[in-house]
Order: sequence, then C-alpha cells, then structure tokens
Amino acid sequence: MTTAVAPRKQLAHLSSQLEELKQKGTYFKLRVLEDQQEPVCTYDGKRVINLASNNYLGLTAHPKLREAAIDATRKYGVGSGAVRTIAGTMRIHMELEEKIARFKNVEACVVFQSGFTANAGTVSSILGKDDFIISDELNHASIIDGARLSRAKVKVFRHRDMAHAEELLREVENEPGRKLLITDGVFSMDGDIGPVDKLCDLADKYGAIMMVDDAHASGVLGRNGRGSVDHFHCHGRVDVQVGTLSKAIGSLGGYVCGSRDLIDYLYHRARPFLFSTSHPPSVAATCIAAFDILENEPERIEHLWDNTRYFKQGLASAGFNIGGVNTPASETPITPIILGDGRATMEFSRKLFDAGVMATGIAFPTVPEGKARIRTIMTSEHTRAQLDQALETISRVGRQMTILT
Ligand SMILES: *Cc1c(COP(=O)(O)O)cnc(C)c1O
Repeated sequence: MTTAVAPRKQLAHLSSQLEELKQKGTYFKLRVLEDQQEPVCTYDGKRVINLASNNYLGLTAHPKLREAAIDATRKYGVGSGAVRTIAGTMRIHMELEEKIARFKNVEACVVFQSGFTANAGTVSSILGKDDFIISDELNHASIIDGARLSRAKVKVFRHRDMAHAEELLREVENEPGRKLLITDGVFSMDGDIGPVDKLCDLADKYGAIMMVDDAHASGVLGRNGRGSVDHFHCHGRVDVQVGTLSKAIGSLGGYVCGSRDLIDYLYHRARPFLFSTSHPPSVAATCIAAFDILENEPERIEHLWDNTRYFKQGLASAGFNIGGVNTPASETPITPIILGDGRATMEFSRKLFDAGVMATGIAFPTVPEGKARIRTIMTSEHTRAQLDQALETISRVGRQMTILT
C-alpha cells in the first residue's frame, strides 16, 4: 500500500474547524450500512433496529422495484448519456413524469436528480431579483439555497405563524415584484405538518405563487400518499408541488408538479435540469414501479400510521420530550426525542447504537442551538416486537444517562 500524500497548509482552516467540532462533541463519523436498508440491518458490523432511515414504506427492498431496476438495466443500460435537454431524455423518463402527473392530478410533472435540485432549481428559476420569497423559518436547506440563487428578497416568517406570514405579505403588497409563499408539507426535523390550507388562503388573498415541498409527505400523507395538498384538499390551489423520490418512494430523485407551462418553463430554465445528467433508466423504472405500489398496496401506509401511533405513545409514556413544549409537536412518522444539549444528544445516539438501536443525533446547524434531538422515523415494516425492543432499549439508556428520571 502507498501512503496518501501529506496535507498542504492551504486547507488548514478546515482541520481547525473539525477540531472545534470534536471539542464541542458534535463531530461524527459516517455509519456504514453493510446490507440493505431494512428495519433491522447492519451498520459498522453491528445488527441494530433501524429508526433512522426515510424508507417509510419499505420500498428500498421491495421485490417489484428491484425487478424493475434490473429489467430496465438489461433493456436500456446503466446510464442516460447526457442531460435531458441534449440527448438524455429516454422514453422511460417521460413515462415516469406522466405517471406522477396522473397520480397527483396535475397537468404536468418534471423529474429532477434529487429533491434538493428540484427545490433549488425551481425556486431559483421562477423568481428574479425584484421578487419576494415569504418562507417558513424551518423550511428545508434546498429552499433556502434556491432562494439565495434566485437573488429575490427573502422574508422569513416564524414557524407556522400565519399572522406573521400575513404581516410579511402585507409589507410587500404594493411592491411590483412577484411573491412566492412557500412551506414544507412535513417539516423534516420536527415532524409537524405545514398549514397548507391556511397558506393557500393567504396566497389567494395576496395573489402570491403558492409552493409546497412535500419531501416527507410524499407516500405518507393524503390518499395513497399523494401528499399534503391532497391531505388538506387543496387541489388546484398550489402552483408548485415538489416531491421526492428518495424517501418513501425508495429510490432517488425529486419532482415538480404543476401546470404544463410551469413544467415547460423548467425544462428551459431550471439549471440542474439543463446542466446535470438525467437518471439512469433503472431509477426511472424503479420509481414507476413504486407509484404502482402506492396505488395497489395502500395497507403499507395504514401500517406506517399504526406503527407511528404506537411508537409515539411508547416514547411519550416512557417520559421523553417528543416535542410540543417550546418545539413543534410532531404529527407524522418523524418523532424527535428532544434533549437540547448537542453533546448529550450525540452521546445518547452513540450509546443507543451500542445497545442495538440506530437513531441519529441531530445538532446545530441542522437544528437551532439548544434544540438538539434524537430523530426517530417509523416505517411500515417494523414489527411490534422490534418496536417494543427499541422502546425498552431507549428507555433503559435514557435512565442510565439520567435523561429519564
Ligand atoms: C430530504 C428533503 C429534501 C431533499 O430531497 P432529496 O431527494 O433527498 O434530495 C427536500 N426537502 C425536504 C423538506 C426534505 O426533507
């Protein structure tokens, strides 16, 4: 084996920042999955109950999706060979977009390489520097980055605070620029639901463009997992619906649903669409199969919600702070266990792992300073026995660490 080249001084500032993280106790090493994403799997050589993945419906290992990916690879190869606008639009990409548009009951859909690029690429291309973005303070990083790239003026309202959102809309009411009102459908760190119906009322009242990021709502909320717009019966009132193919759908990608002209415009102007290669055919085929599952196996979603209620109840009755006091109250399969202190949170997560439960510690800057938490995510595939064992382990370690008294 050869030794790696020695580091140069040009990047020394990175090393010192890493040292700072280590001092604070929030430095982490990546956990490495050695088998497939399932309720019980092997990370770093250890069998653990997995409460950390976004694999809500267990589709990452679904035999029909696996078969679809293999079939498409046999038929069409492993890559698309170009960006969509040059030569990389395959029939199967179009089929996926048409399928999602029908599922969401909208005119059209465009698929991006990820949910992140869907948000960032869309927000940055539909607005310009004379426009305004009115955004929930807990919206996803990809929305924030898209807003920065757009150079529009960003006004941030307190989390789910409709009076504040209206105040901000009123402030810019007489400005000539366009206004975009934007929320996550489900907030990824707290698991609460964006008030899409009330925001639609505001968007209507002030003539704002209405946009929802349904990354954690796709496959989870609404009929057959159609998302928050369906959950709130807001069909036809949301101009831009973003979803992800990377979470409940089990594969990779993001999409935007809306009018034919919105999608056509994004085909011409969204930079990740224009300048980054499209999905391999296997990914498109997998996602098509996943939407079939959403339509034909709704019991998966019912099971997800049964498990969610059971697990939340278990954590709450053990005495953990699962949100609701000084933090939002979760209403979805994402359930945080709030500790507040970053160092204690990371230590709790490590001890849980050693005891056989994988639950990620999340600290600043992913959540605000003082709001560090363990995030748990339920799936439809966890058995009651696994959930009981996880609850028992979390409580035991919680008592050892005097998080529970
Ligand atoms: C995960 C997530 C995204 C990004 O989706 P990817 O497909 O993983 O890139 C966007 N928005 C929210 C709210 C998310 O939770």
